[in-house]
Amino acid sequence: LVVLGIETSCDDTAAAVVRSNGEILSQVVSSQADLLVRYGGVAPKMAEEAHSLVIDQVVQEALDKAKVTEEDLSAVAVTIGPGLSLCLRVGVRKARKVAGTYALPIVGVHHMEAHALVARLVERELQFPFIALLISGGHNLLILARDVGHYIQLGTTIDDAIGEAYDKTAKWLGLDMRKSGGPAVEELAREGDENFVKFKVPMKQHKDCNFSYAGLKTQVRLAIESKNIDASIPIASASSEDRRARADIAASFQRVAVLHLEEKCERAVEWAMKMEPSIKHLVVSGGVASNQYVRSRLNKIVEKHALQLVCPPPSLCTDNGVMIAWTGIEHFQMGRYDPPPPACEPEDAMLDLRPRWPLGEEYAEGKSEAR
Ligand code: ATP
Ligand code: FE
Repeated sequence: LVVLGIETSCDDTAAAVVRSNGEILSQVVSSQADLLVRYGGVAPKMAEEAHSLVIDQVVQEALDKAKVTEEDLSAVAVTIGPGLSLCLRVGVRKARKVAGTYALPIVGVHHMEAHALVARLVERELQFPFIALLISGGHNLLILARDVGHYIQLGTTIDDAIGEAYDKTAKWLGLDMRKSGGPAVEELAREGDENFVKFKVPMKQHKDCNFSYAGLKTQVRLAIESKNIDASIPIASASSEDRRARADIAASFQRVAVLHLEEKCERAVEWAMKMEPSIKHLVVSGGVASNQYVRSRLNKIVEKHALQLVCPPPSLCTDNGVMIAWTGIEHFQMGRYDPPPPACEPEDAMLDLRPRWPLGEEYAEGKSEAR
């Protein structure tokens, strides 16, 4: 099988062509980094326009780089949720146009499932069941993956995701946002003292696997204010003393943000192993999983439980088309796809978009297993 994957759920326009043996034939990402810098976040209408402007080009480039034409494809996979509906619509329209013109089946993909399943492309030994920690800009999920399309949600965030906390910390510290906030904070944190500010670890008293990053965000903002750090002065122009204070806050933030991940992850491993003692892997994926500090801390947990950590390379952790194509392949192989849409579909055809789409069933500790 050769599948084209299209991703437009947030601020990156991505496409890729992947073969069912796991070979990545091409991967193209067009990022809206300049828009992010200009508006300090994702503005849905702007993002939609940016996607519309480049979608045809991105898909064409993916086909060209893979040295295939639409006729060589077996199916088209596209993210249908969760995400910004204005943005999702651009990708889904394009997917339906290609699928309709070339009579190709279409697979609607869950963006977070794709973040998890791409680990099976990276590590071919990775069998179900496994645990996945999915950490990105909009989600913080702990899941038990039992099979393709069959997940139990062990934990989620009750407010913000860790990526959002990284992005705001970067913004308030006056860091260069061109490559998104996370990598900038990670880099600066290497210079800092992680015990400089004693931030409180969130939700310590909750014996569950849920997350909360809104309170930590506030703690960081207050610490920045109390140190009189002026974010309008870019870090590059800061005095060495000022730079030092920013680095100390970045490091202190990162320590506690990741400690929160560790604590909840540890509990999720215990819960999951009770349900599925055959588990051998912990998958960590989503944009924040590109972070080296996060990886090294989670390595400690897997060592303790004799598990193996599977963490895709950074280009497959942040949003990409490969994970969509791959998840499309996994579903297609199980017979889960839609027939080709009509060739001349009206522009305003009813599109199946799922901007809010939970992944799997919730699990409640103590209750009989959720299905
Ligand atoms: P979601 O997947 O929840 O819909 P998204 O698709 O916008 O959100 P991703 O592309 O998966 O998110 O991840 C982007 C997030 O990852 C951003 O918040 C970014 O700051 C963060 N991130 C990327 N690299 C790093 C890093 N090295 N350290 C920390 N955070 C990082
Ligand atoms: Fe994502």
